[in-house]
Amino acid sequence: MEKIVALCKRRGFIYPGSEIYGGVANTYDYGPVGTELLSNIKNAWWKTFVHQRDDIVGIEASLISHQEIWKASGHTTGFADAMIDCKNCKLRIRADHVIEEYYSKRSIKEKVEGKSLDALDKIIQNDLGIVCPNCGKHKWTGVRKFNLLFPVNLGIVEGDQSLAYLRGETAQGMFVNFQNVVDSTRVRLPFGIAQLGKSFRNEITPGNSIFRTLEFEQGEIEYFFDPEKSDWEKLFDEWKKSMWSFVVKELGVNEKNLRWREHGDEERSFYSKRTEDLEYKFPFGFKELWGLAYRTDYDLRQHAKFANKDLSITDPETGKKVVPHVIEPAVGINRMLLMILCDAYREDDPSTSSGPSGNRVVLKLHPKLAPVKVAVFPLLANKLPLVKMAKDVYRDLKKHINGMITLDDRGNIGKRYYAQDEIGTPFCITIDFQSLEDKTVTVRDRDSMKQERVKIENLGSLITQKLA
Ligand code: ATP
Repeated sequence: MEKIVALCKRRGFIYPGSEIYGGVANTYDYGPVGTELLSNIKNAWWKTFVHQRDDIVGIEASLISHQEIWKASGHTTGFADAMIDCKNCKLRIRADHVIEEYYSKRSIKEKVEGKSLDALDKIIQNDLGIVCPNCGKHKWTGVRKFNLLFPVNLGIVEGDQSLAYLRGETAQGMFVNFQNVVDSTRVRLPFGIAQLGKSFRNEITPGNSIFRTLEFEQGEIEYFFDPEKSDWEKLFDEWKKSMWSFVVKELGVNEKNLRWREHGDEERSFYSKRTEDLEYKFPFGFKELWGLAYRTDYDLRQHAKFANKDLSITDPETGKKVVPHVIEPAVGINRMLLMILCDAYREDDPSTSSGPSGNRVVLKLHPKLAPVKVAVFPLLANKLPLVKMAKDVYRDLKKHINGMITLDDRGNIGKRYYAQDEIGTPFCITIDFQSLEDKTVTVRDRDSMKQERVKIENLGSLITQKLA
């Protein structure tokens, strides 16, 4: 994990947030290549779950939303983590995380999810006598609930009237716009509403880079159906297959590092009939990547009640009114990005590698996700004809290829390859002296490190084909 975090900073994937002012815990900024990677993941998600389906439409709801939305959804009361404070060093930490860490260090296979405040308190204070992971003292406050929603005050008048919230999940945007979408489009049950966008949670547990942050990009789908006409268990299994296949085929993640985990009765929300998490084996253990929940008609019924609106849909065949039930796949895009980096990170065997230190670090990213698609190098920076030809090739490729292309003439060629390997650039093109004679260049493949000679006029179509 430390190596990945260092690579992210060194090469411009991820920087700590507000760094020059000492930082803000659990916030991160994305650098030039991180931004490209994030956007490539979002595009892949949108393409798969909106463009390539004929039963899902997308929306983009406001980040600031009416306080009643969050009362209706249960977030103002129920969206809270159990926290505990160390009286000695003032560390505030999630109570379940303190116990999980204790268990994982001792390879204890006990479950922590879904335990009550009292149960967590008893485990930390009495049963196990766990000490503070920061200062080593056993001087805890009691376990308390800490709400994760960020309040915002609108306008100049303070008080309850002007209170709104930054959204804690994108899902509520789909429920409150359900009627708008039904009235303004031609959707018919079963259908989904999808959204990609930021959510905000006042998380306090630091560490593990962007795994858990105060603001993060979510990709959520609310898939609405009539429970009398569609079998929820069948739909649930279809969603499981779609999610798994997206991670393996579109994101190129090794399926050996994935598993499903079903929530037990204690952990599952009271309105959910089944919840399963798709988990990835991060360097710090198997953790939730993507949640899948059957939420029944709970959300629409709550909003119908709180807003006093009819949120049913009329079945065109029977004329019957139905409040649809919903299955929700919810993922964090930034967490997906962290998974992709962990899965793609390799250190090559020094005896076969070409890096300047003998140790090649390479990100074996799916070419579709790679932040930079092609790097173009003149063999030598001080030979004008080589530099000119490299610039021409670079400009021409920019016209043909969708994505970032870069031109680099700094340092020696080995160092340039090394830098591109570290950000996962699939192809490097070098213009050498032979290029000046016969208008061919070398194309080096990131994974095999093999080079092939290609005519400049064929470069555009060859690279496009390889990136597909
Ligand atoms: P946890 O129990 O880990 O706090 P959760 O079960 O509340 O998470 P959901 O509300 O189901 O998470 O959110 C859906 C997805 O959003 C998660 O699977 C995860 O990928 C992502 N996510 C949730 N919280 C965060 C966060 N603070 N930072 C980054 N991603 C997050």
